Amino acid sequence: MDHVTRESSTSTSTRVVDVLVPVALNQTYSYRVPRGMELEPGDVVAVPLGPREVIAVVWAQNPKPDPRLHNRLKDVGEKLDVPPLKPELRALVDWVSTYTLSARGMVLRMTLRMGENLGPERMRTGVRLAGEPPRRMTPARRRLIEVLSDGLLHGKSEAAREAGVSSGVIDGLVDEGTLEVEAMPPAPPPPPPDPDYAQPEFSRQQRSAVDAMRALAASGSFHVALLDGVTGSGKTEVYFEAIAETIRRGKQTLILMPEIALTGQFLDRFAQRFGVRPIEWHSELTPRTRARNWAAISEGKAPVVVGARSALFMPYADLGLIVVDEEHDQAYKQDDGAHYHARDMAVVRAHIAKIPIVLASATPSIESEVNARKGRYQRVALPSRFGGQHMPQIEAIDLRRAPPPRGRFISPPLAEQIRFAIEKREQALLFLNRRGYAPLTLCRACGHRFACTICDAWLVDHRFRQRLVCHHCGFSMPRPNICPNCAAEESLAAIGPGVERLQEEAAALFPDARTMVLSSDLITSIETMRAELNEIAEGRVDIIIGTQLVAKGHNFPRLNLVGVVDADLGLGNGDPRAAERTFQLLNQVIGRAGREQGRGVGFLQTHQPEHPVMKALVASDREAFYASEIEQRERAGYPPFGRLASLIVSAGDRPTAESFARRLAAVAPLDERIQVLGPAEAPLAVIKGRYRFRLLVKSLRNVDLSEYLREWLAGGPKTKGNLKLEVDIDPQSFL
Ligand code: ADP
Ligand code: ZN
Repeated sequence: MDHVTRESSTSTSTRVVDVLVPVALNQTYSYRVPRGMELEPGDVVAVPLGPREVIAVVWAQNPKPDPRLHNRLKDVGEKLDVPPLKPELRALVDWVSTYTLSARGMVLRMTLRMGENLGPERMRTGVRLAGEPPRRMTPARRRLIEVLSDGLLHGKSEAAREAGVSSGVIDGLVDEGTLEVEAMPPAPPPPPPDPDYAQPEFSRQQRSAVDAMRALAASGSFHVALLDGVTGSGKTEVYFEAIAETIRRGKQTLILMPEIALTGQFLDRFAQRFGVRPIEWHSELTPRTRARNWAAISEGKAPVVVGARSALFMPYADLGLIVVDEEHDQAYKQDDGAHYHARDMAVVRAHIAKIPIVLASATPSIESEVNARKGRYQRVALPSRFGGQHMPQIEAIDLRRAPPPRGRFISPPLAEQIRFAIEKREQALLFLNRRGYAPLTLCRACGHRFACTICDAWLVDHRFRQRLVCHHCGFSMPRPNICPNCAAEESLAAIGPGVERLQEEAAALFPDARTMVLSSDLITSIETMRAELNEIAEGRVDIIIGTQLVAKGHNFPRLNLVGVVDADLGLGNGDPRAAERTFQLLNQVIGRAGREQGRGVGFLQTHQPEHPVMKALVASDREAFYASEIEQRERAGYPPFGRLASLIVSAGDRPTAESFARRLAAVAPLDERIQVLGPAEAPLAVIKGRYRFRLLVKSLRNVDLSEYLREWLAGGPKTKGNLKLEVDIDPQSFL
């Protein structure tokens, strides 16, 4: 008896917590809490994990640790001086992991991307000119002294960068006494956005939407609004009022954007409305900015954050509103690492945190549209453009009747329209969703086609870079002059168009016009991208040739003509979302036209003008499109009327992948509400040397598909060696 009491008292005197570590695991690990350390769930800690120390989060107290294990547990290393993750964020991590079947640690990892230095910002070192010039002068030293010649304190790394010297050059001059080192005072935080800085005059139509936005923000409870407004109707100005209201209430707003590189104009507009730019969160921040922004977000010093999908997982101190701009955009679906849809998970976060959320789009996703029709979301509509501008008029050009000349891609009617636009000193945009010069290169002598050696894909000719490139794995090779198969010379032909080839054609047709290609592979940095977009906005380009990068959210005041070079490109590849995506993309890209003055026009080059998507676009009849698409989805039991999940099996050789996929399918639990289709070889059968098979799981809407999959996979064959099984709930891609 005595003995038992003593043992239990020692085991309770040393406390244990369960910690979630940011690695690909679901379970938590137990650690002992050193004497003198107080830990609560949510606290951010450093713990030993194997040979490393990792930053992790206390997930729960462990009141009854197994006494036999106790002595083998390791101690928590350190409690970090950052705000704890709130229960709502921990609940989100658990929810997302359960729903998507992603390892909980991987989801947690997205909340902890705080850069290299945590906690209070580390002091920065500054240098200034202090003494005599050095005895030995070098060009590098001279440049550095030049930069510092104002006698002021400069950040050490900034000075080195500006002078183009290494930090060693600075250290050398410090040793000689020419420079002195001093701690830099921390940069003052930016002033907060001012909700009353510059409110615009709203039109009558906008005013009722603004009222709805303010009421939503003021409600401070979970509520989803679909801000459904045509391109150029002022959605941004309108949802800014929800943000203003949220700032007044002292709470934070998160604005999610599909593509952060494209937000330059947005940041400026925000500053015009609120006096300062918002804080940004995306993968291209420098580690220092990342650390600073993470701290500002978690300490509640960032009233408004604009970011890509990963910003959803930040530890906001007091989130009061989420806005998802271009909510239909497929870039919100993350398909590497954890598969999740940031728009859907944003609604989940709003629900858990009991806050309002605004989904904004000119072409809502079918899912959101159905939710609005059923009254689950509040529709806030802006049916016409601001300032009396008309919606662009859209015409189809039937390529069967008016084909372009051989080897060309711009039809005579489109060329004529471009000529008119240029004569009127307006801009034209040629849209083609294909990077590079040509999607295929072929030997005219022997028929040899250049394919990637490790992917099931043709190599795309990139003339600007002078290489043939695989778009799936990044493999590239110089474009040869001789066919590697038959050794014929000058026999290689480019087949089909890409944006680079279109530029060549446009330049030949309009030799005096200034052309510019906008394509993600040609962007070297966010800054150059933003600079190029500004050049276009300022009218220094006549013909813009772009991929879907140009479709998103820009205002080009002088752009009135949009020509879609291949409107059929995204259709008819067996993808259940092809029609929706094509409708949204083409609507959006043509919506760039005629936003500020004059009448916008859009031309669709197509082989199938009778296709429902083309007809709806030409008739500007979005009702017709939604009605037919919703009906088809309902009939087929596709989302949102049913649920889908993909299982993707891959391995280094085909038989291994195929037999695993078959064994997996064979043990799928029977359930009359659920259909398992496949396995079938994936349309993209090989990527990076991995052979791929897909299973599609389809269920009724009210089925917990995640739970079904979890049970199935738990009882199914286990992946070994280089076999890999990926689970994709709510797939957007079927390749
Ligand atoms: P959307 O996001 O719906 O495409 P925007 O918010 O970009 O539309 O608005 C289109 C253009 O109209 C922008 O240049 C915007 O500044 C302008 N605009 C919209 N509403 C107003 C307003 N009430 N007052 C002044 N300009 C406005
Ligand atoms: Zn490849």
